[in-house]
Amino acid sequence: MGAIESKDGSLKVEGTVKAFNKATVHRCQVISGTIKVGDQVSAMVDCQARLATARHHTATHLLQSALRQILGKHVQQQGSAVDPQRLRFDFTHFAALDPMQVQQVEELVNRQVMEDLPVEAGHMKLAEAQAQGAMALFGEKYGEEVRVVSCGDFSKELCGGTHLRRTGEIGLFKIIREEAIASGVRRIEAVAGVPALHHIRKSEQLLDEVRDRLKAAPDEVVKKLNGLLEELKALEKAKREAARNQQGSLIESLVQEVGDVGEVRFVCRALEGYSSDELRELADSLRKKLPGGVAVLASAGEGKMSFTVAVGDELIKAKKFSAGDLAKKLAAATGGRGGGRPQLAQVGGRDDGRLAEHVAKMAEYLFG
Ligand SMILES: [Zn+2]
Repeated sequence: MGAIESKDGSLKVEGTVKAFNKATVHRCQVISGTIKVGDQVSAMVDCQARLATARHHTATHLLQSALRQILGKHVQQQGSAVDPQRLRFDFTHFAALDPMQVQQVEELVNRQVMEDLPVEAGHMKLAEAQAQGAMALFGEKYGEEVRVVSCGDFSKELCGGTHLRRTGEIGLFKIIREEAIASGVRRIEAVAGVPALHHIRKSEQLLDEVRDRLKAAPDEVVKKLNGLLEELKALEKAKREAARNQQGSLIESLVQEVGDVGEVRFVCRALEGYSSDELRELADSLRKKLPGGVAVLASAGEGKMSFTVAVGDELIKAKKFSAGDLAKKLAAATGGRGGGRPQLAQVGGRDDGRLAEHVAKMAEYLFG
């Protein structure tokens, strides 16, 4: 991380990759001017960004050892990524870490930070490093001579990366996420140094905001929240009961309106603001109160018109009427489409603005 400047242009370094000949290639974005082969440039390292990356990278060493101590020696690094903002560490493990394990790992790492262990790098033969139990990347090809990085006696790893001089420079280590990324592979995301402080501050601000909105004392947030949730539950229950009562009295008033058309008991009414599902539910309840009757409930809204036809069981048994057949007649009369079962059927169509007229002519439509 840093910048590259020439007399004609300025570049921002976004990352590096290793080329086949072991050269380090800088991947850059041109900020201004142009750059060409043969230009003389000066490269500047962004010290703060580099230090922040070294914090996360060094913390990764401590994290791997801590995971092996808490979870077991089966933990093997599967991948890792570090930048100035955070670290990501993938490792083999068969189950999700429980909150207690996450806390233990986090605490063990922070203890090594507080111990302010020296971070030392040395070169040695691969066989010697292996004999000392240095952790290596499984499947990685190493040369005969390797670089071994140790954090006190806590961690020893083969590594060519950028490290701090002492673990105390990490400042603070905080795990922010633990998840599965593949079968048997977990991923930990963590922050170190200033980003760790920012993470904690952000959580505090969130809690402050919740406390503020709840107007609760710090230790009463959960109690107050539980109280509100209980209250909400009670209100919802009361609302459901009120709706049931309202529906009950609506059905009673519809039953009062039932009249005779020939030998059929019949009622039809337009109801404002009911969805077709609600109409169906109402019609079904009404049907049970009118074994020898036919009921039609109508509603219009949002450019649509809908009718629900219900037929009582006695009429169905006597094969006198079927709601499905009546719905077809109604559809033909109102220009909609409809059908359904013998007990209950629905007709829907475009709102032609004549709902009241249709309701007035309903008996004629169905029995005329
Ligand atoms: Zn390293």
